[in-house]
Amino acid sequence: MPVQKTHAIVIRTFSLRESHKIITFYTPDFGKVKTMAYGVKSPKSKLSGSLELLNHGMLLFNYRENRDLQNLTGFELIEGFDGIRTDFARITYGCYFAELVDAIESEGDANPEIFDLLRRTYQFLADTDDVPLLARFFEIKFLDLAGYAPQLSQCANCSSVVTAASAKRTQSASMMFFSVRHGGLLCEDCQHRDTSAFSIAPGSCELLKTLRKSELDKLSRIRASTRNHRELKLVLSSFIQYHTERNLKSLKFIESVLEM
Ligand SMILES: [Zn+2]
Repeated sequence: MPVQKTHAIVIRTFSLRESHKIITFYTPDFGKVKTMAYGVKSPKSKLSGSLELLNHGMLLFNYRENRDLQNLTGFELIEGFDGIRTDFARITYGCYFAELVDAIESEGDANPEIFDLLRRTYQFLADTDDVPLLARFFEIKFLDLAGYAPQLSQCANCSSVVTAASAKRTQSASMMFFSVRHGGLLCEDCQHRDTSAFSIAPGSCELLKTLRKSELDKLSRIRASTRNHRELKLVLSSFIQYHTERNLKSLKFIESVLEM
């Protein structure tokens, strides 16, 4: 049973009876790794303080293929992201990112870019002025890396080019149509194919494309209006819910407590 060593972020913890826990990590080398941590709740355990949710460290475990639960043997803390933990809103969003990765990724699919996105987003989460914009950035980047990239430049039904200039104009405003079911924008001719498609402002669509191309350290230069925030939140959370086929608890919590 070879011992494996890899960078890892704690994305889920589940307490069992006695002093054991099931701890799920996201790693660059093995994707999601679910482990059994024996005796870890005991105050005598060397690991008891280091396995907090969102901690980044070096994980040691006995790897066995096709096994649901791997056996955790060590975890050396590298970053605890303390700047997030002192702020209720930031830690709640941090838990949401971890829950999203846990919901979409499956064991054994290595994706180092997703690990890097999660780790760097936690580093930025402590200081960013616009936490919801960072959340939208994380969502679109994560969806792209996980293979669920929404179609934002072409019609998701007929593949014709869709731009802000081709948006539907009414007397008061122009709008674009985003269909969760079709996986992205619909052109004006195809909009009737999904009567539940969201109508969003061309500016919100442009913002989403900007976020998709942006880097974390450029995010502070991007400004979003209240309307952009509202529309992107709605579109992305519906898109995520459709693909995860479940309600993410932390997202519901953000909606009910932080966005009152
Ligand atoms: Zn079309």
